[in-house]
Amino acid sequence: MRRDKGLYFPERITPLPHSFFKNIDTLSNSEIAFEAIKPFVSPDIPEDILKTIIEDTLSFEFPVITLNDSISTLELFHGPTMAFKDVGARFMARCLGYFNKDNTNEVTVLVATSGDTGGAVANGFLGVKGVNVVILYPSGKVSAIQEKQLTSLGQNITALEVDGVFDDCQEMVKRAFLDEALTSKMQLTSANSINVARWMPQLFYFMFAYKQLYKTYKDLVFSVPSGNFGNVCAGMMAQQLGLPIKHFIASNNENNVVTQYLKTEQYTPKPSVQTISNAMDVGNPSNFIRIREIYKNNFEVLKSNLSSFSFSDEATRDALKEIYDTFNYVADPHGAVGYLGCKAYLKQHPSAHCVFLETAHPTKFLEVVEDVIKEKQKLPKQILAVMGKEKVAIKISSYDELKAYLLEK
Ligand SMILES: *Cc1c(COP(=O)(O)O)cnc(C)c1O
Repeated sequence: MRRDKGLYFPERITPLPHSFFKNIDTLSNSEIAFEAIKPFVSPDIPEDILKTIIEDTLSFEFPVITLNDSISTLELFHGPTMAFKDVGARFMARCLGYFNKDNTNEVTVLVATSGDTGGAVANGFLGVKGVNVVILYPSGKVSAIQEKQLTSLGQNITALEVDGVFDDCQEMVKRAFLDEALTSKMQLTSANSINVARWMPQLFYFMFAYKQLYKTYKDLVFSVPSGNFGNVCAGMMAQQLGLPIKHFIASNNENNVVTQYLKTEQYTPKPSVQTISNAMDVGNPSNFIRIREIYKNNFEVLKSNLSSFSFSDEATRDALKEIYDTFNYVADPHGAVGYLGCKAYLKQHPSAHCVFLETAHPTKFLEVVEDVIKEKQKLPKQILAVMGKEKVAIKISSYDELKAYLLEK
């Protein structure tokens, strides 16, 4: 067992009893999540507190929409920022809030974001006592909706608008953690520091989908639109816990390091290229090493559990249109890549039922979606609510300004 700030990353996983999965449709989402994560979190977090954290974290829907006998989609975008990262961020924030409850000094969480992560993290920490969040984002490089999500929260969340690119933000954050003049005066923490708490809750998704489908379809496979491979890794944890998942498909855009690896057994990181499914523009996926560890670095075993396909932006646009024309369903570009992964897999395994994860609400990618399906989209209430709010951000252009801000705060 390795410790990660009060939470365990398991080296061996004990499966849940068979009866748990057999009767899973009699359990609420919170009950499922509690049983699944308890072994990893208990006794660091007492059971009653863990129950409250889970109920709080999962206070929205995770519906499965069945498109036809072979394909369903699991919608993971009903949280406050309409991206699937909400669940991990909310769970992590509440765990950190608990660990920090007796600490009289406030903790400052410092995060750099290129878009969605910052919004989900900030939202997750909103109102959590004893924790201040400072987000650095690159000026003019995030979408209008993302910027509003980062800058309009208030309370314990501060947005710093950095004159620079994402790498500059990340560089400043890294420097702050190494700066003794800061760390001697305040307790700084990174949103990644308890990252087990951040990606592990994603294993719930696969259980929620299974619960909705297992009585109707056998041979469930999941197509996961993948960037850093945290989500598909969480699915594999669910499988290790005994969830009967037949196979995983890592669906990639043109950033295809893993697709290539499964073809050639050569893992060759590359600089990322920009695509319309930009949350998956990752050239060296940080969680892939964990996946290799789950299968004990056995390439053949990994290959028997994971397929990977890579698709161009053009194919992704065509898929968006096909999903809309055929099923009257509006997907987002990431979900569309997942759909293509399902189709590629089903060609070879026609009897499977493939669930692709819808990882973001389509209106977060309004321009692409409206351009392809030629129909105006109605904005959901979470998006409308932030659009009307006022942006509040402090402009900075150097590390010294960040430091001065943190010291004066
Ligand atoms: C982060 C993200 C992904 C990729 O998830 P990973 O866990 O990094 O593989 C896919 N879609 C959306 C919308 C995301 O925000």
